[in-house]
Amino acid sequence: MTVARLKSASDVLRNGGVDAVMLDIDGTLTLRGKRRETAAGFLALLRSKRIPFVCVSNDSSQTAVEKAASLRRLGLTIEPDEIVLCHSPFQGWITAEGLRGPLMAVGFGDPRWLEQIGVPLAFGLENIARAQAIVLGGGDHPWQASIEGIVNHLRENPHVPIVVPNPDSCCPRDDGGLSIDAGAVARWIASLLAELGIQARIVFLGKPFSPIYEMALDRLKRLRRHGGVRKSRVLAIGDSVQSDIAGGRAMGFQTALILGAITREDSLRCLAPSQLPNFVVDEL
Ligand SMILES: [Mg+2]
Repeated sequence: MTVARLKSASDVLRNGGVDAVMLDIDGTLTLRGKRRETAAGFLALLRSKRIPFVCVSNDSSQTAVEKAASLRRLGLTIEPDEIVLCHSPFQGWITAEGLRGPLMAVGFGDPRWLEQIGVPLAFGLENIARAQAIVLGGGDHPWQASIEGIVNHLRENPHVPIVVPNPDSCCPRDDGGLSIDAGAVARWIASLLAELGIQARIVFLGKPFSPIYEMALDRLKRLRRHGGVRKSRVLAIGDSVQSDIAGGRAMGFQTALILGAITREDSLRCLAPSQLPNFVVDEL
């Protein structure tokens, strides 16, 4: 596959062939705690061309209303119904599983969205025996004791699912560094259990997995009003090869990787052809 190297995502739109956009937020619209210089102009271009877009983010710490408010503080106007977060499919999953709680939440600072789900929550390892599912967040958390508690519990109760809204291994910090995220913790737990011959049931909801995209596609169809959305004419834009590009490719979207946050241009040389985006851009 040939990768087209363009200056900006706006250039991709100008080339045509895009009916709708799925836009990552952290590292894409924003960078190191500020909005990207070109973010507001890109949103204005989408709106002026009437190209519907949905922001898809693996942020598991905020509600869509809170996320929209935090973007507004950075000067970006995006409505809450234009945002689908990695935990957005969680309510549907709980209903499909028939769970009534309690759910044990680990690694969340202030999980307001979890409180809004309407299922009893339990915090602290002392409650793990009662938990119907364990929900992992990626906040600042003393992980070692939690990981040991979860591994020991799942050794005896491997049917208890671990739900991971955010499958990312790491996320960009405002100081330019990276922090460990919930996906890395979940995969670590799964590999520890696998060494013991136990297959953990890990349920990933966010990018690159399909639940967040299916929900975002439904949202796009509503925004387009007059008809469906052809996946081959959706452009997924993001800064992560592992989540934005892998997820977009798996869904059959066009993909644009934006540099400057998680991915550097020299790291593209290490990617297999199956991991490459359609476009690499410096800016929105
Ligand atoms: Mg990102």
